[in-house]
Amino acid sequence: MKVVLLLGDGMADEPITELGGMTPLEFAETPHMDRVAREGMTGLVSTVPDGYDAGSDVANLGLLGYDAVEFYTGRGPLEAASMGIDLGPGEVAYRCNLVTISDGLMADFSAGHISSEEGASLLSSLQAAVSGVRFHPGISYRNLLTVPGGAGGAGTPPHDIVGEPIGPFLPSGPDRDLLLACMDAAEETFSRHPVNSARVASGLPPATGIWPWSGGLRPALPPFAERFGVRGGMISAVDLLNGIARYAGLEVIRVPGATGYLDTNFEGKARHVLAALDHLDFVYCHVEAPDEAGHMGSIEEKVRAIERVDDMLGMILDGFDGVVAVMPDHATPIRVRTHTRDPVPVAVRGLGRDATTRYTEREAGNGGLGRIQATELLPILFDQARH
Ligand SMILES: [Zn+2]
Repeated sequence: MKVVLLLGDGMADEPITELGGMTPLEFAETPHMDRVAREGMTGLVSTVPDGYDAGSDVANLGLLGYDAVEFYTGRGPLEAASMGIDLGPGEVAYRCNLVTISDGLMADFSAGHISSEEGASLLSSLQAAVSGVRFHPGISYRNLLTVPGGAGGAGTPPHDIVGEPIGPFLPSGPDRDLLLACMDAAEETFSRHPVNSARVASGLPPATGIWPWSGGLRPALPPFAERFGVRGGMISAVDLLNGIARYAGLEVIRVPGATGYLDTNFEGKARHVLAALDHLDFVYCHVEAPDEAGHMGSIEEKVRAIERVDDMLGMILDGFDGVVAVMPDHATPIRVRTHTRDPVPVAVRGLGRDATTRYTEREAGNGGLGRIQATELLPILFDQARH
């Protein structure tokens, strides 16, 4: 028997007045999720260990069986893997946003969602001005900085300090001086860069600097195949998830048209899940769209994204008769427009059944799986799957 985990990023939410006191999961038309709940089991999963931010990194690592407390080294090294950057021993990777800092305040954590081409041009000029580190242009404002022989260091996620003075949040830790020197060089180089002149002329925010954060060495994840005795694959449009997959030795399956946004190729993803099950025992299929809608604070888009995930689930249930689980990695409630630490609902087909009749946050609280930790989920699915 084989296992599929369909992950709707950020699907879980809170009751919303505009939806008559229902959550988006309760309000949305989700016949397939409800069928899995009715014919299967539900429960609540705690995906964020105490002391960690409610990030997709920590939550998804845990669901794949890797406890963050033991294995998490930062977001930088996970995204390095997904960009094909092979971190050497002692090499530290930082996330390196292009940002707009204005009057000492973090005005924009994305420099106006600067284009990848503009970002690459800025970083290439910066690379020529500094030594001892490497800049790796990524997508839009999301780039990487690697430090061979780095010692690591903390940095605050820039999206958490929008509108605040940057002073208290500048990098700390052993790499601090090097990172501050890079930030100074960026400020100087970018201030007279043609990319920024053109942006300002078009009324767009300039990238005034870089912001390094979440640095770490590559995590030592024991291979997924050894841990669970099965071959697995990852389907996701998000660098972070593909990075985790590479470190864990999961096959990274690319789906044309998968964007990580609300216009993603939902149907193509579901078809690729079914195709991958020809040669794999496990597929982790991640859909970013509900999280994106949560961050936008759009009730309508969130409901629509959930319904599209439900369509995907329907295709998977039709084409595959093994164990299927559906869940988010964390909640992204419309009210707060960011992630929360609340336990999230899971529904599973293939583990027997309980009394639940719908897949919702509230009903899952009474489900037969009870309340479990993220790292406990796959062992439960695989033990059952081998019977
Ligand atoms: Zn997430």
